[in-house]
Amino acid sequence: MTILQGIAASPGIGIGPIHIVDPEEIEVQDGDLPVNGTAAEQERFRKAIEESLEEVRELREKIAMETGEEQARILDTQIDILGDPDAVDQTLAAIERERKPAAFAYRKILTAVAARLDEADGEYYRGRAIDVRDVRRRVLAHLGGVRAHSLRDLKEPSLIVANDLPPSEMALLPRNMALGFATDLGGRTSHTAIMARARGIPAVVGVKGATDSAQQGALAIVDGTRGIAIFDPDHETLAEHERKRERYRELAAKLTELKDQPCTTADGRVLSLGANLEVPEELPGILENGADGIGLYRTEFFYLSRKRLPTEDAQFNAYRSIVEAMHPRPVIIRTLDVGGDKFASYLGTPIEKNPFLGMRGLRFSLRREEIFRTQLRAIFRASVYGTVRIMFPMVIGLEDLRRAREIVERVKLQLRKEGVAMAPNVPLGVMVETPASVFSIDQLVQEADFLSIGTNDLIQYTLAVDRGNEAISEIYEPLHPAVLRAIKTVVDAGHRAGIPVGICGEMAGESLYAVVLVGLGLEEFSVSPYLVPEIKTIIRGTTYGDARELADRCMSLATPSEVRTVVSEFMSRRYPGIFLPA
Ligand code: PEP
Ligand code: MG
Repeated sequence: MTILQGIAASPGIGIGPIHIVDPEEIEVQDGDLPVNGTAAEQERFRKAIEESLEEVRELREKIAMETGEEQARILDTQIDILGDPDAVDQTLAAIERERKPAAFAYRKILTAVAARLDEADGEYYRGRAIDVRDVRRRVLAHLGGVRAHSLRDLKEPSLIVANDLPPSEMALLPRNMALGFATDLGGRTSHTAIMARARGIPAVVGVKGATDSAQQGALAIVDGTRGIAIFDPDHETLAEHERKRERYRELAAKLTELKDQPCTTADGRVLSLGANLEVPEELPGILENGADGIGLYRTEFFYLSRKRLPTEDAQFNAYRSIVEAMHPRPVIIRTLDVGGDKFASYLGTPIEKNPFLGMRGLRFSLRREEIFRTQLRAIFRASVYGTVRIMFPMVIGLEDLRRAREIVERVKLQLRKEGVAMAPNVPLGVMVETPASVFSIDQLVQEADFLSIGTNDLIQYTLAVDRGNEAISEIYEPLHPAVLRAIKTVVDAGHRAGIPVGICGEMAGESLYAVVLVGLGLEEFSVSPYLVPEIKTIIRGTTYGDARELADRCMSLATPSEVRTVVSEFMSRRYPGIFLPA
């Protein structure tokens, strides 16, 4: 049994067989060859070995010339493995006797070799195992294998283990196939974590050594509440976690009983508690959990799951179905927020040294106006089917908003000319997620119809800490006085201007912060669907007066740890069933 600590990214317990996702892995087909097909298959295999050898020798030569003989010698191991008569003979025999395809047979043999090396003690053998896997990949590619499509092809409910899962990969995950996630990399607000939470799937990220400890098909546990991944659990541990999983499900079921209750503080302040949506599969969870609307529709996932730019009609249909399903509750559609950690090769987003400071969000849309206009047309066409608001990501000042507004006006004019029906007044809002937008909030509120604070980025940019970097995750502190001041500044400016201010970053869905956020004056929350009941429970359990008092106290403190202590003490006293004493 191996227990590894990571970052708790999505609550709950997942237990099941491991499915390792390795985008480098090559997929091969099993099946029987025709009786007269074995000789040709053997020939194909010999040729693949020859081609692979040639490739490695060329590579070796290149390295020898560019970096020297010593570096080049590293590849000698791979040349040895490729020439290993045992592996070659065994593969040829399997083709002949078992009539197995070459790729299938060779893969099986080298996988067993790598596994034996993995089990041996010492750095040297582990290094050899990596070489064996590399050779396996190379030969299988020459045999015409295609890169495994990982998540899209998942056929059995499994615990997904990966080094990292880019959002474009997560977008391919079929429904009900993931029992949990454990990834070597990532932080609480990385998009893998966000998507796991959105689907109510337990997840632990930043688990160093997860992929190394995982064995395909073996049993594992993901405890997304405590941030732990357990590989090859013993009977006792397994039974204990099965009990925990049951308790967690009961608690979740009990909380959803609040579904039809309003999100009101004990002294009658009415708040709105919406949900965030990435992909349509999340809609049932949003409805089941009684969200007051969709406070953030991350439309980019619609683009990420495709191979080419979606047409206006495809987008219109997607928006329409969400807007209709939520009617009369509002849907805040955020325009395309690519860049950062969200890419689609067909969009031609540049390769950048600092993607989070690069061509992201509204910047991209303003540069690629034709993509922006198509999206806006689709949104306006969908607007007649319910209550739509539009929100722009990554705004750094009034100029951004004005340029976006101008394009919106032109799009509307054109649609009117074409006689297309649209809702009369679709509000245009700004996501406050950069320090620049906080410092220019007094100007922004003059021209924005509403604000929504995106704390995931606001914290990352305010504290200069990468939201996806597990190594510095302890500095990513939502309760940092600088963050609280930024939020307060935005809320106060919004209230002075008489426009609504919401919060849609992951901070809004963390029960520990809920009362402070209410106290800071926020009125619209948008959280991951499965967290709606918990946040509602917390908000209904406090008065606005108490929340303000707590927020005022926090605002007077100088350091993140002082704030954390005060908030933790307050919450464990007030909600003893939910919070354990700090
Ligand atoms: C945010 O930054 O808080 C936010 C909600 O946007 P995203 O997480 O998609 O960057
Ligand atoms: Mg953001």
